[in-house]
Parts: sequence; C-alpha cells; structure tokens
Amino acid sequence: MKKWLKGTAAVLLSTTLLFGCSNSSQSSLDQDISEAETSKNLIILIGDGMGPAQVTLTRLYAQKYFDQDMLTLDEILVGTNSTFAGDSTYKDESGVVTDSAASATAFGTGFKTYNGAISVTNEEVARPIASVIEAAEAAGKATGLISTARITHATPAAYATHVRQRSMENAIAAQYVTSGVDVLLGGGERHFVATEEEAKFGKTKREDGLNVIELFQEKGYEVVTSSDELEKAKGEKLLGLFNDSHIPYNLDREDTQVPSLAEQLSKAIEVLERDDDGFVIMVEGGRIDHAGHANDIHSVVQETLEFDEAVKVALEYAKQDGETSVMVTADHETGGLTIGSRNVYDTYFDIFKKVTASSEIIGKELEEAEDRDDVRKIVEKYTGINDLTEEEVSLILDGKEWDGTESSYGREGGFNAVISKRALIGWTGHGHTGVDVSVYAYGPVAHYLTGHTDNTDFALAGAKVIGVDLEQATKELQSKYLYPSFMITQDEKVVFPGQSLAKALGVKIEINEQNATAVIEGQKYEGVKDHSGIYFPLEVFEAATGKDLTWDALSERIVIE
Ligand SMILES: [Zn+2]
Repeated sequence: MKKWLKGTAAVLLSTTLLFGCSNSSQSSLDQDISEAETSKNLIILIGDGMGPAQVTLTRLYAQKYFDQDMLTLDEILVGTNSTFAGDSTYKDESGVVTDSAASATAFGTGFKTYNGAISVTNEEVARPIASVIEAAEAAGKATGLISTARITHATPAAYATHVRQRSMENAIAAQYVTSGVDVLLGGGERHFVATEEEAKFGKTKREDGLNVIELFQEKGYEVVTSSDELEKAKGEKLLGLFNDSHIPYNLDREDTQVPSLAEQLSKAIEVLERDDDGFVIMVEGGRIDHAGHANDIHSVVQETLEFDEAVKVALEYAKQDGETSVMVTADHETGGLTIGSRNVYDTYFDIFKKVTASSEIIGKELEEAEDRDDVRKIVEKYTGINDLTEEEVSLILDGKEWDGTESSYGREGGFNAVISKRALIGWTGHGHTGVDVSVYAYGPVAHYLTGHTDNTDFALAGAKVIGVDLEQATKELQSKYLYPSFMITQDEKVVFPGQSLAKALGVKIEINEQNATAVIEGQKYEGVKDHSGIYFPLEVFEAATGKDLTWDALSERIVIE
C-alpha cells in the first residue's frame, strides 16, 4: 500500500538546524514532497571501502568470468555521495578524508562528526545523535545489523551505540544489549565473552568479567555461531557471532559453517518481517575495506561480489514485497585503486584471479620465509607464478612497495605490490581516499537520492521514507545520556569538566578559578585543576541540577535519571 508523505519537509529542515549542520547539497530531500511515497521496510547496504573503481573492477571481473553483463548494484545506480568528515578536536585526524566511524555517523544519523566518533557530537561533553535504526526502534519497527567485520566495528556500531572513540568495542558490545536491535549477525565474539573458555572461537578482549552473551540470552535472544545454527534458528531475536574477530575473507572460507552475507540477510529478513510495523536492516560488506587497505586485489573483488549477492537478496525481496526501499552506498574509497597503471591501457585479470587465498594468509606464511627460495615456493603455491624476477623476490623479502619504500604491510605489502604491478592495478597507498562514492537505490527512497548528495542526506532520506523522526529520537537520547571527556584522579575519583558539563546539563555553576572550588547553595566543593579547566566529581552536578546522575564506566557515559 502506498501512502503520501505530509509535512515532513519541515521536520527535515529542523533536523538540519538541530544538528547545526547543513552540508548537504540541494537534493530532492528539500523539494517536491508531494510526489514522495513511503516504505514500510528499509534495507540499507554499505560496502565499506567500496569506491567507484572497486565496483568497476568487480563488474569487469564478472563480465570476464561469469558472462554477467552488470552487477546487481548497477541496475539501481542513482547518484553519488560526498564523504568528508566533520572537524575534529583531534585535528590531524579529520578532514576531507573520512574514517568509517565519522562516515557511518553521517550516513546513519545525518550528522557530521570527527573521525573516530561513533554517533556523538564533537564537544568536550558530547551528546548522542540517533540513527535511522534507533528512530525505527522508537517507532516500533523491528531492526537488524549485519556485517562481515566484527559487529562491534564502526559501521554497525554507529547505527545503535554511542562512544567517543570507535576502539571502545567492549562498550559497544554491551550497549547493543539495551539497544533494542533484534538481529545482530557478524564477527567479533571476543568482545562478548569474558574468558577464553566461554568463547567458541577461543579468544576474548574483555577484562571486566562480563559475559555479554548471557545478557543477550536473558533478554530472550537466541545465540548462534554457525551456518547450520543460523539456518535452524527460530527465535524472534537473534545474536549470531561467526568468528572471534572479522569473518574470514571469502577466499579463506574453507569452513562451510561461515554464513555468507546473503544468507545472513535472508535470515534477518525472515525473522524481522514477522513484525507488522515493518523493519529496518543495515548490512555491511565490511572487508572490501580491509582488502583495500592491504592492496589485495583478488579479495577486493571477491568481497565486492559477496556484497553484490546481498544486494540481490535485498532487491529481489523489495520487488516481490512492494513495501520495501533499498539504499546502498559506500562509506569511502580505500587504497586509491586504479584500473590500469603506469601508462598501460589494460588490466590483466588472470594474474590476480589465480591467487587462491587472501594476502592476510599468504603474508603470514611469507613472514616465516627464511630465504629467497622459500619466497618463490610460497608465491608459486598460492598464485601459480613460477617466474618471479630477482627484483620481485627482493621486494617481497624486504617488505617493500614497488617504488622501493618500506611497506606498512611488511612482506604482505611486498607480495601485493608484485601482484598489482603484474596485473596493472594501481594503488595510492594503504589508507582511505576522499573521492565521491556511488549511491544506489530502489523503491521510494530513490527519489531522495538522485544526483549528487552528501552522505548525511543518506540518513535523512532513509528516515523520511519510512516516516521516522530522527530529531525526536535524538532528543530522547540526549535527555538520558551525555558522553563527557573526563579525568581519573590519583585517588581514583572520576571528575568532569565543570563549565562544559554544567552547560550541557542546562545549569550554571559558580566556579572560583583561583582556588578551584564551586559553591552551590552555600555549600563549597573542591575541584581539580587541569590545563584545560577545572574538573568536579558528579555529586557537584547532582547538587546543581537536583537530578540523579550515574557514571556508567563501561560505556563512558553519564546516565541522567
Ligand atoms: Zn578502512
């Protein structure tokens, strides 16, 4: 059933004002809403590091080897996204080139923040910003997050959790428990278990003794760790963890118990479509980026093919269902990939197609190589190449890029440089780049994403098409949580920046700069002086606001009651 949208333009404009951010170019988000339609369901797919060249290379590969004209993605191309990050308090880390945290915050919530931030503002006392998934939860829809990376990694995290730095993956795992997200599938078991004995995959990164899996089970989640278990699962809520860290690259998946992205999405749809209010799912092809960082061509292609299979599942469902929008983009490009290099007008696919494992695996073996002969044997085993030049063997053995500089990827970098050179593939480095990425959409949401848009528009379009209120969801979150910078004193007291926290809580505190004290209703409190200001323990702010404030150390946030 199709519904007409009414009055949402005003909501959208004020969302922009609330966030203090109007980076978006003129798009159909601002115009002509009378033609707009809504969708009950929304499937969001993010190819991490999937720049335009990654897509082209994968299409050329599919044409050559599968006799496939186009990727599924190509059928629904609608425009491009700009990806730059917001300003940073951590100055040299933010700018034209985004990381996955800032970009996921942008396309998940509609707000530009600094590199490293997971859906919080760039302030001394940061405030949470709600995502499309959180707004959908608030509206009673069922929700799901899926990734081939750790499920605690930046992209899924930005859709349902809030932390000042993306590396806080233990906090992210714990925040998922109360996020309301019904289906979580991916890697990253090590952030959910407290001991190696509890871990199916044998590893833990938690030191707080918290078994997060048990917390999920107490909330009624069915927990699965293999393809078979996923297929058989009957629960209304599902936590699937398929590796200790990221899910292995496609080239390395000998274990058939690792479900593909398409299988994970199919299962998530099966579970979530039971909700009469509709559902929102975010699916991330997380390892296209990792392969790009390493300059591993064959894995870039294989991971993008897997992602495209998931897009196919989404698109087929949407076509048959008639009430679902599908929107796809990338967070940024990774590696500065070029097709053709060094003035030669071709690319040799057969060279990298013969590579039978990810360079992560091959690189580990190469690190063990003792001499030039070992290098030749390992390379031949994984690629069939038996005519390495002396120069190529040296590059691998010395861990050098093609230009002779040291590779940050060691011998793995040397190996990828050799394969890329032979295949006529170019890379500008091992980091992200700032080029625009493509946007793909199907269903009513396509109307809002046609042409060039900013990645913040991606979130606004998603929220608009399913009729959920990002602004209201953000207000709700901000009334409950603050994410301040803080210090721990020598006697292990946690203290907070006086002026900034008072301001964030909407009160004024009279602070004596000279002797670092504050006076509230006649009572004097001692503060701690630092070069950045005067810090006070939480009871000072409780006295000033009359509210119950709790420090949630695990999530590094203040809970306001
Ligand atoms: Zn990356």
